[in-house]
Amino acid sequence: MARPCLCCNHPERDKIDAAIVGGVNAEAISKQYGITKQALWRHRSAHLPKAAIEAAKAERAEAEGRRGATLLEQAHELLDKARDLLAKAEDSGDIQTALRGVKEARECLVFIGRLTGDVEPDAINIVVHAQFVNFQQLIIDALAPYPDARAAVAARLAHISEQAP
Ligand SMILES: [Zn+2]
Repeated sequence: MARPCLCCNHPERDKIDAAIVGGVNAEAISKQYGITKQALWRHRSAHLPKAAIEAAKAERAEAEGRRGATLLEQAHELLDKARDLLAKAEDSGDIQTALRGVKEARECLVFIGRLTGDVEPDAINIVVHAQFVNFQQLIIDALAPYPDARAAVAARLAHISEQAP
C-alpha cells in the first residue's frame, strides 16, 4: 500500500504547491510546514504537474534576464547622454562642463563594468580616486592664464579617463 502523501493531505497544500512551483527552496518549505524534504521531493515529482514547474522556472529566468538587461540598457543610455553633453561642452570650449561630462561618463562606465562583472566592486582605480580628481582640478585651475595649454591638458586628462574601466 502506498504511503499517504503528507503534502497532498496537508491543510495548507495550496500554499505548499505554490511555494514549490514558485521556486522557494525545499529547506525553507520544509521548516515552514513541518514536512521533511524527502516528502516534499516525492510530492513534487509524483503529484505536481512538471509543466507548471518548468513554466514557472522559465518565467523567473526570463524576468531576471529582463531586469538585468534593462539596468544595463539604462546605464548605456546614460553613458550616451554623458558623451553627447561632453561633446557639446567640448565644442563650445566649456572646459569645466566638459570635465564634469568626463566624470559622469566615467561613472557610467564603472557602473556598466560592475553590471557586466568586468570591474571588481572594490578595485582601486586612480582615475576615480578623490586625490587624483582634485589633482586634475588643480592643474586645470593653474592653467587658467594659458587657455591653449589648459585645453590641451584637459583633453589629455579626458583621454586618460576614457581609457579607465
Ligand atoms: Zn502529494
